[in-house]
Amino acid sequence: MSEKKQPWNRPMPEQQFKLMREILDAPSPVGLEGAMTYGVLKPHFESFAPGDWQLRQFKGHAGVVLDTHPGRDDMFKVMLIGHADKIRMQVRSIGDDGKIWINTDSFLPTVLVGHEVKLFSEDPDNPGSYRMIQGGTVEALGAIHFADPAVRSGDRGIKKEQIYLDLQIHGENKKQQVLNLGVRPGDSIIMDRPIRSGFSPDTFYGAYLDNGLGCFVTSEVARLIAEAGGTRQVRVLFAIASYEEIGRFGSRVLAGELEPDVLIGVDVNHDYMAAPGIGDRRMQPLEMGKGFTMAVGAIASEQLNRIIESTAKQHDIPMQRDMVGADTGTDGMAGVLAAVDCAATSIGFPIRNMHTISETGNTQDVLAAIHALTYTLQALDALDDPHREFLDNHPRLDRATPLEHQGSAKPDEGDENSAL
Ligand SMILES: [Zn+2]
Repeated sequence: MSEKKQPWNRPMPEQQFKLMREILDAPSPVGLEGAMTYGVLKPHFESFAPGDWQLRQFKGHAGVVLDTHPGRDDMFKVMLIGHADKIRMQVRSIGDDGKIWINTDSFLPTVLVGHEVKLFSEDPDNPGSYRMIQGGTVEALGAIHFADPAVRSGDRGIKKEQIYLDLQIHGENKKQQVLNLGVRPGDSIIMDRPIRSGFSPDTFYGAYLDNGLGCFVTSEVARLIAEAGGTRQVRVLFAIASYEEIGRFGSRVLAGELEPDVLIGVDVNHDYMAAPGIGDRRMQPLEMGKGFTMAVGAIASEQLNRIIESTAKQHDIPMQRDMVGADTGTDGMAGVLAAVDCAATSIGFPIRNMHTISETGNTQDVLAAIHALTYTLQALDALDDPHREFLDNHPRLDRATPLEHQGSAKPDEGDENSAL
């Protein structure tokens, strides 16, 4: 097959981009994930899932799990996890001048200034119903004309306590104008920028690629598996988690409840090559546009990674190995955090400007992840006995063979070209 025919080497089709945009745009701050899970993903799942698949729901959070074989605990269970929660800013207090002071959570204060946001306010007279305010901007310093020299030169930055939401309140009784809206401490604020195509081919940017993208990939894998007629001996749990941004608390509940044998976190990763000012840290050379990433290290199972890596290689899907330290930094950790025996790893896509309004990704990396995960599920399904496969094949470094110096010749370029 010509390389050009493969979906991960082509532009993302318009319809697919539209779905990705819709999932990423759902207002689902931490703790209020229902907009993405019930508002967008549930109807989407229902549009393609066979009748015997089931959507599992939960009481304490709005996460959901699409289950291909409900009740079949005897089967080999594989859980893919994206997280629906977005970093949640919150109203902290309201000033006499109408400024709404906000908590910035895991945003750098400086990257927020000037951006449009949506404020979601629970109606104090009608708890459980929410109103939305658009048209406010996040501010901190005002005009350069008021800034002292250290701020002007960049020697001094912005403290998170300086950040406020400006609703352009003016005139009489400024604080009262805000109180009259019913805006209260605790109300949620998220950034207002749906994704758009970027200038460079196959790129896109906007807020919250982290981690509507992992949810989009998980749901696209579910659709492809459904279209391929499902799986025979692997029970797949397509999981959309909550509470990741505050410590990956939701995915461990899902893992604890459903006890998967294999768990794969799907989350954004960094484009370290483009990250400004970190050249001297000699980070792993992950780069946007070079394929999906796979975590190596921490609790990542080398057995599971082996299957993903060889599957990707077999189908010519570009993959980048990501070195992780003590922690994958993703929901890939859910199994061990929930004390469940499962082989886990983490799959991602390098993005730029994580936790800003201009998170930037590449659709081909996303497509690479979708297809690599689909083929991996099918490879697991094709194993004689997936349970025994993982029990009996732990890597044995005591059986490592000696490796001699291999000379200085570069790989034959003629061979590389003939593979196209
Ligand atoms: Zn994040």
